[in-house]
Amino acid sequence: MQAFAQEGKPLVERTPLSNMERLAQELHGLAPDLVVDWEARAELRPHAGGEDEVWLHLQASATLPLTCQRCMGAVPTALDVNQWYRFVADEDIAMAEDDQSEEDLLVMAPQFDLLAVVEDELLMALPLVPMHETCPVTPVFSAGEGELAQQEDAKPHPFAALAELKKKK
Ligand SMILES: [Zn+2]
Repeated sequence: MQAFAQEGKPLVERTPLSNMERLAQELHGLAPDLVVDWEARAELRPHAGGEDEVWLHLQASATLPLTCQRCMGAVPTALDVNQWYRFVADEDIAMAEDDQSEEDLLVMAPQFDLLAVVEDELLMALPLVPMHETCPVTPVFSAGEGELAQQEDAKPHPFAALAELKKKK
């Protein structure tokens, strides 16, 4: 992360949702083609009386289908993350300074998992109760169920056919 900050070049990524399992679980149905666009940039900031601090800026956006809590249909929900973090040396410092810091704190680690932080932020950005502003009047089917419903419409219902037969007798 130090080297990343020194370089100062932003990291621009597009991550398929299949690589964010925890987030994928929150979605309405399976969405294998969805992606999350995100960008991370780190910088060194001089710190009075100490080493330079490493700051990280994270931006992420995605529109994900959540389940409407009123009609249980899919409601496309735009998620936006725009967040600054400051790296600290260890968990103790993070605990001690967290309350007084406006920015979020991250603990410096050799194998820092940036993608996990992106996913955490998106999870926190999820609305507590996803809901359509106005629910669609017709029931919302997922793609699979919709096709099935159409097939059933096309051929007469077996019991309807039986009823017809009974009438004829
Ligand atoms: Zn709804």
